[in-house]
Parts: sequence; structure tokens; C-alpha cells
Amino acid sequence: MATATPATPDQDLTALLRAANLRVTSQRLIIHRVMRDLDRHVTAEEVAKRAARRLPGLSLPTVYSTLELLEGLGLLRRVPLATGAVLWDPRLTEHHHAACRECGRLIDLDVPVDTAPGLRAARARGFEPDGAEMVVLGRCAECSRSAKTA
Ligand SMILES: [Zn+2]
Ligand SMILES: [Zn+2]
Repeated sequence: MATATPATPDQDLTALLRAANLRVTSQRLIIHRVMRDLDRHVTAEEVAKRAARRLPGLSLPTVYSTLELLEGLGLLRRVPLATGAVLWDPRLTEHHHAACRECGRLIDLDVPVDTAPGLRAARARGFEPDGAEMVVLGRCAECSRSAKTA
């Protein structure tokens, strides 16, 4: 018996773009596919490098705006780091992060965190929050090791 094949990432994105009245472009499809393939936290520069194999002449500003568009469609999360850099996270299931202040490493923390009090407090100050996440800041295992041996 034929079973329904799950929608491919391309089909998912195409449907979301159409629903939002946005154009389906090869740039959007390829950048989205690169994020799904990498399946880890990446910088826009890494995405640009990968995607440029399929899209010669792709500019970094285009990559930035496409990542922002995908974020707006709920297909990516943006994680600002203590180092000032931004990483893009293709993992959509709820999780939190620990970020190293020195090297910028970002790891996933799969723990339930009660963000409701924070959301309530923000609403009380007139915010319209669309989410909250915890970022544990500090030094990663490797950086603390090298700090001790230095
Ligand atoms: Zn580190
Ligand atoms: Zn993550």
C-alpha cells in the first residue's frame, strides 16, 4: 500500500513562502537546504560558503536577509552570543543553550526551563513576547582546560 511520503524541506518551504505571499527563489530553497543539511549551529559566513557552491556569486547580505526571512517563517532560530556574534540554529524543538564567552562555542541544553514568569513580566511592561530562552554563559570545557595549562 502506498503511504504518504513526508514533505521534503523544499516542499515545506515552498508552502510557507506561498502562504506568506513571498517568492519561491532558488536562493531561499538552497540556503534552507544548506541549513537542514548542516544540522548544527552555524554562522552566516559558513552558510554563505556552502551555498555558494550551488549559487555562484551569492553575497553575504543576501544570506543574512534570507536567514532572517527563514527565521520569520519559523524555520530557524537566531542565537546571539556573548561574543557579539550570531549563530543560526536549524533545530526547532524547544531547547536552551550554553555559550562560551571566549571561543563562542554554543551547545544545546535539553532541559525544561520555566520561562513563563519572564514572559509575564515582559507583558506587564508592555512587551509582546514571541518566545524566551535560557542561555548559560561561561567558559566551555576546552577553554577552561587551556586556561589552566596556559
Ligand atoms: Zn570555549
Ligand atoms: Zn541549539
